[in-house]
Amino acid sequence: MTTTRILRGRQFFANPGPTNIPDSVLKAVAHVSIDFNDPAFLTVYDGVVAGLKRILKTRHDIFLYTGSGHAAWEAALVNVFSPGDALLIIETGHFSENWAKMAQDFGLEARTLPADWRRGADFAALRATLAADTAHAIKAVCAVQNETATGMELSIAETRAALDATGHPALLLVDTISSLGSLDFRMDEWGVDVAVAGSQKGLMLPTGLSFTGASPKAMAAHATSTLPKSYLKWSNMLTRRHKSFIGTVPTSLFYGLEESIRLLEEEGLDAVFARHARLAEAVRRCVRHWSGNNGPSLFCENPDRFSNSVTAVLMPEGHDAEAVRKIALNSFNVSLGSGLSRLGGKVFRIGHLGDLNEPMILGTLATVEASLRVAGVPHASGGVNAAIEYLAEAASG
Ligand SMILES: *Cc1c(COP(=O)(O)O)cnc(C)c1O
Repeated sequence: MTTTRILRGRQFFANPGPTNIPDSVLKAVAHVSIDFNDPAFLTVYDGVVAGLKRILKTRHDIFLYTGSGHAAWEAALVNVFSPGDALLIIETGHFSENWAKMAQDFGLEARTLPADWRRGADFAALRATLAADTAHAIKAVCAVQNETATGMELSIAETRAALDATGHPALLLVDTISSLGSLDFRMDEWGVDVAVAGSQKGLMLPTGLSFTGASPKAMAAHATSTLPKSYLKWSNMLTRRHKSFIGTVPTSLFYGLEESIRLLEEEGLDAVFARHARLAEAVRRCVRHWSGNNGPSLFCENPDRFSNSVTAVLMPEGHDAEAVRKIALNSFNVSLGSGLSRLGGKVFRIGHLGDLNEPMILGTLATVEASLRVAGVPHASGGVNAAIEYLAEAASG
């Protein structure tokens, strides 16, 4: 007879989304019902919208939806395009593929700029593709800033530079769902026309709220867009007091968001990004150490593209990532991310974004190493020491 092991203590949640919710955000979310037109709520609401604009680094309109990141993906597409429009999606991995599939579902022509999932897209190829499109058939370039499935960042500044260098008028749509609040993002400076974001990753909230920033150029495209839309339609939203949300506003999430924005700004966005960079580097040093004895290795082969919010760890041939993940969860109460689509069973992912510090990272890495041992996966032992050395050095300044 097998008995289920009871695991005490806090679960170490090392998923790249959802992420840990800070205690003060949890308390803020536990708010009694309030009329969403109550002046007390409107003050909170307007403050949160202003805070989100500071985090997106934009002065443009933002539109919010009761729905996860997928709702904001859909809003970005249906609000600016018409049937048959062509988009160029820069391949990054699972999430770029799924955004492209969604575009196809809406009758859009989703062209892909192909890329190696371990090395990332080539900006020279992007420039060449845009330069070759002399008829300007491509209405938009779509980019995923942080590919959560592979642990790689795509430079939005370089994507913008490719559009500028070729004088191509395409809109720039950017998915910041797993980067906003963890990696630097500058909507206006980088000329992003639609920025797509969600609540449950770097913003440290429960799932269920997503939003898009929209530039004046995106609003102009919206005025002539003919894809069917209603609940997500920006011009419908603009007629309402909240300039967002058709229907009931999820008030409790706004109390949470008010607190998470306060936390991010109290620490300072640049300090938040530096903390993510530091913890990410500790994870990478540990994984590099493990790889020494034919062990698991970094999936990302291009150090210029390392993501500071998630690391995908590639298993040695013949070993199942899911087995390691199950041991970590069921024996040690550490929750890791699984491999997505074609990376299923091949990688596990360590999420290191949001409400996270050194002991949580060190505990997670030590436990993953214990799980590798239990699973009989070869590795160079003592990877956590490489992380300890790096974090100690960083703290000595
Ligand atoms: C999580 C994620 C999504 C999907 O968001 P949901 O909130 O799960 O709908 C899209 N893109 C990226 C890069 C993500 O990390």
